[in-house]
Amino acid sequence: MVDRLANSEANSKRIAIVEGCFGTAGQPLAIPGRVLIGEGILTKVCRKKPKTRQFFLFNDILVYGNILIQKKKYNKQHIIPLESVTIDTVPDDGDLRNGWLIKTPTKSFAVYAATATEKSEWMNHIGKCVNDLVQKSGKAPTGEHAAVWVPDSEATVCMRCQKVKFTPVSRRHHCRKCGLVVCGPCSEKKYLLPSQSSKPVRVCEFCYMQLTSGGLAPRSDSLSRPGSKFNTSNLSDDDDDDDSSD
Ligand SMILES: [Zn+2]
Ligand SMILES: [Zn+2]
Repeated sequence: MVDRLANSEANSKRIAIVEGCFGTAGQPLAIPGRVLIGEGILTKVCRKKPKTRQFFLFNDILVYGNILIQKKKYNKQHIIPLESVTIDTVPDDGDLRNGWLIKTPTKSFAVYAATATEKSEWMNHIGKCVNDLVQKSGKAPTGEHAAVWVPDSEATVCMRCQKVKFTPVSRRHHCRKCGLVVCGPCSEKKYLLPSQSSKPVRVCEFCYMQLTSGGLAPRSDSLSRPGSKFNTSNLSDDDDDDDSSD
């Protein structure tokens, strides 16, 4: 199916339209063999609050951006190579329904679809594209993923010391290793996590100890995350569109 579409005029036209919607703010998307599988609006969990984003699934990349004018103009384009992607379902919780995690070595985040059907279509198609890529390349998928950041709103106090209350002065920070919302004193250390940055990044005291002890300490993800929507542990970082600070 994908091979048949790859050289079709309809596919080329659709990709050209997507390119056009991003304008000069986006990367060229038309390359030989690339197929646009599907598109739609998903709610992406960002640091401050969930935000509506336009997503495009190609057979080798996932592209998303901010919607300026629906179906006409997008900006802040992000391109995620699918070969590094792992997806995990997220159980429904209150208003947040039909969600799943998109995890990559550089960043991981949750998205939510409007309906359960849309969710299963997205997850099936992404899963199939990733499998096809891994089979073609013969490379094993990467095991390590960036931590999914706990949204700011889920922590009124530091999730490590449980003491420091967040205020405009006592700001929230995110540990790049475990994704928890932590206070300044609990995250004074930096550590080099090469998949996330070429420079050392902020980690919490607990993760720093774990990282520097050569892996003898218990994994941080064996700790519970009070109030967290995701028990998926592991490592990561958000982005991007709203995370200028840390
Ligand atoms: Zn603290
Ligand atoms: Zn940590």
